[in-house]
Amino acid sequence: MATINGNYNNLAAGYLFPEIAKRAKAFLEKNPGIQIMRLGIGDTTHPLPKELIARMKEGVEKLAHKETYTGYADNSFGMARLRKAIADRYRGWGCPIHDTDIFVSDGAKPDSANIQSIFGLNNVVAVQDPAYPVYVDSNVIAGRGGTWDGIRYAGLVYMPCTEENGFFPALPDKKVDLIYICSPNNPTGAVATKEQLKAFVDYAIANKAVIIFDAAYAAYISDPSLPKSIFQIKGATSCALEINSFSKEAGFTGVRLGWTVVPQELAAEDAVPGKIQTLWMRRQNTMFNGASNIAQEGGIAALSPEGSKGCKAVIDYYMNNARIIKQGLEKIGIKVFGGINAPYIWLQTPGKMDSWQFFDKLLTETHVVGTPGVGFGPNGQGYFRLSAFGHTENVQKAVESVQKNLKI
Ligand SMILES: *Cc1c(COP(=O)(O)O)cnc(C)c1O
Repeated sequence: MATINGNYNNLAAGYLFPEIAKRAKAFLEKNPGIQIMRLGIGDTTHPLPKELIARMKEGVEKLAHKETYTGYADNSFGMARLRKAIADRYRGWGCPIHDTDIFVSDGAKPDSANIQSIFGLNNVVAVQDPAYPVYVDSNVIAGRGGTWDGIRYAGLVYMPCTEENGFFPALPDKKVDLIYICSPNNPTGAVATKEQLKAFVDYAIANKAVIIFDAAYAAYISDPSLPKSIFQIKGATSCALEINSFSKEAGFTGVRLGWTVVPQELAAEDAVPGKIQTLWMRRQNTMFNGASNIAQEGGIAALSPEGSKGCKAVIDYYMNNARIIKQGLEKIGIKVFGGINAPYIWLQTPGKMDSWQFFDKLLTETHVVGTPGVGFGPNGQGYFRLSAFGHTENVQKAVESVQKNLKI
């Protein structure tokens, strides 16, 4: 008699994006011919820099000849050239990271969902509230969620990110074991300072906790005083691992390429240094067969001087969109956060409207679609996420429509 993993029945989310699509569709059916403007999507829209395209074409060409053809790699951790290029970047920032600490993958979403599987089910998990939904959902599926009361999972520790704390949480007020931090943050656009990260690193070392740091938007940081990696904090290699991706940095959301840094020194209560890295190697070799060799050639190109210049130009383009949105909304008196070192604008709904009420109002009055903040956690209630991804002319049109048509 086969049975299912009943933890899936305990998942509350999965509701956000389908609900957005449903409401947009219903609006279009009632108002045929109206053009909806999307400022809600966390997906890149710009073509890839030409250096990356050229290198991926070379990667395809290698597959066409018996002298250069490659199939499976010896292990699933990534090409040596790519691991070195990624590690070189960390070393350039002064982080003590070795090539062999880098594990190339098909993206940060799978890694951030899979990483919990190498930790015990009795670990207490802390998440930022609001947060990228994968951290909560992957732990619920594993069975760490506990009961859902309609707002929160009883088994998880929520760390509120509010206007008062600049959307970066205080240390947990009880002992936790696994701590997810995303900086620059999706959805709030907040970026942790070195001091803020140091407090978490000190906490993790004192409590033998492990920090799972998602740096998917590190390339969007322009302020040189802000850390792009948790490994810029002294001691972090003993208590943190870091997940990153070429998706937002190089437009690889469809190409698929990411990496996780699991430092050799990383330790836990029952794991001497080296053990956690060995477990991740074991997990990846057992359940993953390596990232596409074509994508990896593109990743190497993205990290080259020419390639990274091309990626930076695209990021500047998106960040100009962010500026247009931020300034455009501020002009009509809306309180906005983020959008300076991150491609997300986190706005406070006018008149303390709830997130979904504002979604409907924005859609019906301005034809703009965004993402209700409450979909990212209870403390997202009363907030709304707009994304800077998109073509500038469309972003401009959307902002003009909000300025002209939103009744506040
Ligand atoms: C987009 C995003 C990722 C990237 O996921 P990929 O699977 O690499 O495309 C990871 N974390 C956050 C917070 C994101 O927003």
